[in-house]
Amino acid sequence: MNLFCYIHYSMKKEKQIIKYRQMGSRNKKTGKLNYYTVTSVDHKKFECECLGFQYRTYKDCKHITRLKYLLCIDR
Ligand SMILES: [Zn+2]
Repeated sequence: MNLFCYIHYSMKKEKQIIKYRQMGSRNKKTGKLNYYTVTSVDHKKFECECLGFQYRTYKDCKHITRLKYLLCIDR
């Protein structure tokens, strides 16, 4: 957890686009885990590729919420 905080604060320079891979739910048919890419712009704007975010872009999906938690960003 501390490592994530350190990364967050050390990157406060220029505009940075970072892609994070977030673990999603397990596919009940295949038994495989789904992964979603969450894109961060300056750690201010977040976009996720999951369906939940595509339908409700005004609201953070659980992957973005979790990423913010890991990055120590409180909203
Ligand atoms: Zn998502």
